[in-house]
Amino acid sequence: MPDSTSAGSTGWRVAVVGSGPAAFYTAEALFKAGEPVQVDMFDRLPVPFGLVRGGVAPDHQNIKGVIKVYNKIAANPAFHFFGNVRVGKDLTVDDLAAHYHQVVYAFGCESDNKLGVPGEELAGVHAATDFVGWYNGHPDHRHHRFDLASARTVALVGNGNVAMDVARILLSTADALLPTDIAEHALPSLRQSQVREVILLGRRGPAQAAFSPKEIEEISELPDVDVVVTPEDAAVDAMSAQWLEKDGARSQTRNVEFLRERATHGEGEKPKKLRCRFLVAPVGLKGEDGHVRSVRVQHMKLVAAGDGTPRPEPRDAFEDLAVDLVFKAIGYRGVPCPGVPFDDKKGIVPNVEGRVVEKVGGAVRTGHYASGWCKRGPTGLIGTNSLDAKATVEAMKADHAGGKQLAPAKADVTALLQQRGVDAVTWTDWQRLDAWEVQQGQSRGRLRHKLVAVDEMMQRIRALRPNAS
Ligand code: NAP
Repeated sequence: MPDSTSAGSTGWRVAVVGSGPAAFYTAEALFKAGEPVQVDMFDRLPVPFGLVRGGVAPDHQNIKGVIKVYNKIAANPAFHFFGNVRVGKDLTVDDLAAHYHQVVYAFGCESDNKLGVPGEELAGVHAATDFVGWYNGHPDHRHHRFDLASARTVALVGNGNVAMDVARILLSTADALLPTDIAEHALPSLRQSQVREVILLGRRGPAQAAFSPKEIEEISELPDVDVVVTPEDAAVDAMSAQWLEKDGARSQTRNVEFLRERATHGEGEKPKKLRCRFLVAPVGLKGEDGHVRSVRVQHMKLVAAGDGTPRPEPRDAFEDLAVDLVFKAIGYRGVPCPGVPFDDKKGIVPNVEGRVVEKVGGAVRTGHYASGWCKRGPTGLIGTNSLDAKATVEAMKADHAGGKQLAPAKADVTALLQQRGVDAVTWTDWQRLDAWEVQQGQSRGRLRHKLVAVDEMMQRIRALRPNAS
């Protein structure tokens, strides 16, 4: 059984920071590199899988199926998990450099972009990432509160797949979500929800909608929900039509076709609505008694950027939308890790094809690499990280073969963690907690009963250890 205590081989040793998709695909590519390698994976949480546990929607269990692949990777005897270990605090980057030949940062993007408009601080204005983390039981987000019981109309800024997840959860019923692994604390709020209308605000046109066709189609298949779009909003301007023809992806054409078709249905008969608006960008939020009451949007037109991509440009036309809540789904953003270079402009670890550089345009930091969202920014589906990880591992392989790596004096990090009193969670510990969560969930007619607080997780992990008293 792979366990942290077996760490410390004398050969090629790699530390992977993070345990989401990018981290596991990096480990997989390393194990396929054709040379024995030890992979030690670190996560600040006691539980693995990053956004697959804390981000993928509870009604998208098929997507969470990738965990089976990650479990196979973790079954390699040269894999060790160190959960509950925060790099930058429990272990410094220098500590990692003293123990490993190479260090790969795969810690994703943990924060959100700001709109930067007046009123963003009003109560009732939320980051979609907070809502997603909350309903998924992520320990960082369990404390958030969303007043769904007093809200009828919600503005959702941005129209990527995170916005689709948020819209779908807001427009679903608590009963439909009950059998899933949704955090139990979310169910009473969703049960009391009065949300009837979600207004999706896209700053560009229907041809540039960031959602995947499958995601918008899924919402239109919800029993109580009409996807509503006016013929004006569904209209594609001449420049976008040309762009679609020349550079557009099949998914963008499918989105346009779907929206045009929806535009022929009018309001529909169902009690809940997802209204798709295009060419509108929020410029201010107004409140009463400190709570958001309306969104002022400015109408946009599309102009060609230098590379021909349609970009939004403001028009002299405004509109006020009365709303009860606002969710901003305008992208994740990276958070710096102490000791690791950070490109503040892009919110990523600066790198050249996966090799970390001291600053943008600066020298390569030998032995340090990036993979996944913290390497390229928060875009792409889970599988995109597999190709990305393979590319980083190609660079690592070449550097390892050429001797361009760190020269660690020590082989086993376990002793250092013990010395610092850090109770590192092993893969075996996680497997016990996993089985316990599933069993607890099933006894309640649910897929999983997720523990949502780190101290609760650690208490349970300790109690499940065979030598627990
Ligand atoms: P995203 O796909 O990049 O979408 C961000 C949206 O926010 C875009 O519509 C963007 O408009 C808009 N936006 C950005 N800044 C804005 C501003 N200042 N004002 C108004 N609108 C603004 O990001 P995401 O939805 O966070 O998703 C991240 C990645 O995860 C994506 O690749 C997504 O496909 C993936 N994901 C997949 C699933 C799934 O497969 N089920 C679920 C969740 C996430 P512009 O296009 O004009 O920039």
